[in-house]
Amino acid sequence: MTDTLVFHSGLDPFDVWRDALAPHLDGHVRIEEAHAVTDPETVRFALVWMPPAGFFARFPNLELVINLGAGVDRLVARDDLPDVPITRLSDPQMGRMMAGFVLFAVLRHARDIPHFEAAQARSEWAYKHPRAASETTVAVLGLGELGALAATEIARQGYDTHGWATRPKDLAGVTVHCGDDALGALLAKADIVVCMLPLTPETRERLDAAAFAAMKPGAAFINVSRGAVVDEAALVEALRSGHLSGATLDVFTSEPLAPDHPLWTLPGVLITPHLASVALPDSAAPQIAANIRAVQTGGALINEVSRSRGY
Ligand code: NDP
Repeated sequence: MTDTLVFHSGLDPFDVWRDALAPHLDGHVRIEEAHAVTDPETVRFALVWMPPAGFFARFPNLELVINLGAGVDRLVARDDLPDVPITRLSDPQMGRMMAGFVLFAVLRHARDIPHFEAAQARSEWAYKHPRAASETTVAVLGLGELGALAATEIARQGYDTHGWATRPKDLAGVTVHCGDDALGALLAKADIVVCMLPLTPETRERLDAAAFAAMKPGAAFINVSRGAVVDEAALVEALRSGHLSGATLDVFTSEPLAPDHPLWTLPGVLITPHLASVALPDSAAPQIAANIRAVQTGGALINEVSRSRGY
């Protein structure tokens, strides 16, 4: 009996993922969209992004859930998740895309682009003398698969780059700080704070009014991870009061961001609709296939998610 991989995503095209995966699975695994599965008993693998409630109950023989992305917060929070291993994507192209976006956002603030955009809207030649990269301190909160690559890219540009995580790590050009006690001092010295933390019970609203107050006056804030890591009302207040000079925001507590949300119109704020990075079929397919083979042959999984940590 051929095993089946069931696919569900409201964002990603099934045909493209099927065609990218098929050559790596050598015909040993059938790939089907959830609505087209005729024999749910054969489904051993699920490749999913935000499947609907009750999705997993249809497949009693699931052995692996593959999250079609890096962030697993919505998946691990479900109460219908079967007790099987979960893996996430750790796709090199997704990492490059995220590092590129974060670098753009850091440069936007480091090179005072919001100041020039505002001046241009007034047809005003508003010279502001540039600073050397080494004079700008950037703090990257979260040094995981995506965060570590972004931090090393920022460091490569010559910025004084710091990172924050739970555990120490060795990253070229990045000074790493660990644990809750280290956060306040780091926020106080950063000109630009980049949030790349996963959303977990520990990180939910971790960037609250106290955290924004701890940031340097005039600092800029970038969020590319999850909106709920931030107390959005506190962020609005920090921007409105001028304590923060601006922000580049790709993620929000509620998406799409409501048309009347104050963040749309605050000065120095750039809003993008949750697209800093996406999973790319051709570069993600080999690792998905490797994990399917690992289940079939009893081998070790890669990119497995810790349910207890939540990332
Ligand atoms: P990882 O899960 O690989 O790494 C998470 C990092 O955060 C680790 O360095 C971890 O520390 C650190 N961390 C977790 N909890 C804490 C805590 N309580 N205190 C301090 N540090 C903590 O994440 P990725 O780098 O792969 O991705 C980050 C997030 O980016 C994803 O969770 C997802 O939400 C988001 N994302 C957004 C996209 C977009 O388009 N906007 C696209 C893809 C992902 P340690 O290393 O010590 O474990």
